[in-house]
Amino acid sequence: MSKVTSFHSTEILALTPTEIEERIEELLVERNRGELQPEGYFYDGIWYPSETQEKASCCFNINHKLELYDHCKTENHLKILAVETLIGSVKNFV
Ligand SMILES: [Zn+2]
Repeated sequence: MSKVTSFHSTEILALTPTEIEERIEELLVERNRGELQPEGYFYDGIWYPSETQEKASCCFNINHKLELYDHCKTENHLKILAVETLIGSVKNFV
């Protein structure tokens, strides 16, 4: 089984709110230990978050790309990302 590195629209609907909270906590710990990286890529020393799996509304007013990388390891970002992934999944469902 491959490691879950972010939130996925198809599976998040199957999780209970408690499981989503646990997933946020897991990702927070693993990203801050450096075991997992936020979804995205480096190009010419600048980090770009994945448009589909990482970028959330909280990221838009952060300009410096490396600051954005650190931001994507915060609890606030992971919570907003989880909620927005969930909302996106519900919209695709109806
Ligand atoms: Zn963010």
